[in-house]
Amino acid sequence: MKASTSINSSTGAEASAGAGTRGSGGTRGSGESCGKPCGENYFGHLQDKMRQLEEANYKLRARLGKIEREWRYYESMRVRYEREIKKLQTELEKLSSPPLIVGTVVERIEGTDGAEADNRVVVRSSTGPRFVVTYAPQLVDPRELAPGAQVGMSQQSLAVVSVLPSAKDPSVHGMEVIETPCVDYKMIGGLREQVEEVREVVELPLTAPERFERVGVVPPKAVLLTGLPGTGKTLLAKAVANRTSATFIRVVGSELVQKYIGEGARLVRELFALAKEKAPSILFIDELDAVAARRTEDGTSGEREVQRTMLQLLAEIDGFDPRGEVRIIGATNRPDILDPALLRPGRFDRVIEIPVPDREARLEIFRIHTHKAGMKLEKGVNFENLAALTENATGAEIKAISTEAGMLAVKRNKSAVGTAEFVHAIKKILGEEQRSCLGLSAKSKEMGVMFA
Ligand code: ATP
Repeated sequence: MKASTSINSSTGAEASAGAGTRGSGGTRGSGESCGKPCGENYFGHLQDKMRQLEEANYKLRARLGKIEREWRYYESMRVRYEREIKKLQTELEKLSSPPLIVGTVVERIEGTDGAEADNRVVVRSSTGPRFVVTYAPQLVDPRELAPGAQVGMSQQSLAVVSVLPSAKDPSVHGMEVIETPCVDYKMIGGLREQVEEVREVVELPLTAPERFERVGVVPPKAVLLTGLPGTGKTLLAKAVANRTSATFIRVVGSELVQKYIGEGARLVRELFALAKEKAPSILFIDELDAVAARRTEDGTSGEREVQRTMLQLLAEIDGFDPRGEVRIIGATNRPDILDPALLRPGRFDRVIEIPVPDREARLEIFRIHTHKAGMKLEKGVNFENLAALTENATGAEIKAISTEAGMLAVKRNKSAVGTAEFVHAIKKILGEEQRSCLGLSAKSKEMGVMFA
């Protein structure tokens, strides 16, 4: 009874619809004698309802799960974007912050009892004057503020806000540091005497220092290689470094000439410190004339800075132990303009002249850069003739001729390089203009005409 009452109340609309049906004289099922769903039908109806509700519930849960997943996804995206915004904001701040002034730490100021006095240091700015400035220990590690360290200073207060990387970093100042170069003496054509001499003064002190000690002889501190560009000065220095398993450090003299006062001298100091750190090492200073040209009385401020750099170079060489594991090789195309102070005994006291290769040497260089380098050659290629045709050419030019001939053979889709390619390459590399610059003999000029 109770059940039927509840049905009445919950399905009143259905009941009235049922009454309507009754009025029309329709057939009724066994459980509908009183016009209301009861008995089996009632439970069937309830079960239907329950199923529908469960289905609806299931769908709602699935939707809820989907919404929760989507929410989690959007939440993670939000966090990611927030992080990105922060990063971009810091980058923007960095980009829009005013530039720093570069300075060099002269000394740290200490308190009376040895404690640091208010975090202060004496810094020389890149424009010259010295300042007593403060630094923020939160931004700068006080241990890094050693004399000579390069720092960035704020424009307004000149406070030290960052310590700059050392110039010892080869990438900063265009140095070339090769642990052991893969150049052998066999890769040098000609230059027998020069190789012997370099071996004596650079290789022996590194590989057999006891020989010098036994006799009580001090090896030359530094060697100067002079000669035209491309005659193999760098090649020779690299070969010695390879033989002695020394680190090869190459710096070009012009790189040591800096714009600001004291910068070049600091670079020279750091260069020698790097050479000592990497010992055994060979420090090769190319284009030495850029930094060590003869001093003049009425120099401009720029010249005075170059001189300062040279004086630092001299000081470093003077303070060097000639029996140590660092050897210095300088190279220049203009020995005539070098300052005599550089060439006095105890400095670059051994000068080795690297000549332009003679015919025999040219023959060897051709062989090195073709046959030995794995280039495929046609049968008729005669190096004797090629050497005769390249009078006054340097090693670098012969290398360029070989490469050019090879390139031409590739262009012509040939499987080997022939004489025609070499002749074409000689004509191209040692063009008429260049040949006259080199001061070629009348005979070789005639040969030039031959190619025209
Ligand atoms: P620069 O004064 O311009 O620095 P350099 O005298 O140091 O010139 P290198 O850089 O040694 O000349 O030579 C350039 C290239 O020429 C070398 O890499 C080498 O391939 C070739 N070369 C020069 N001389 C010789 C040689 N005697 N034997 C073999 N190859 C040589």
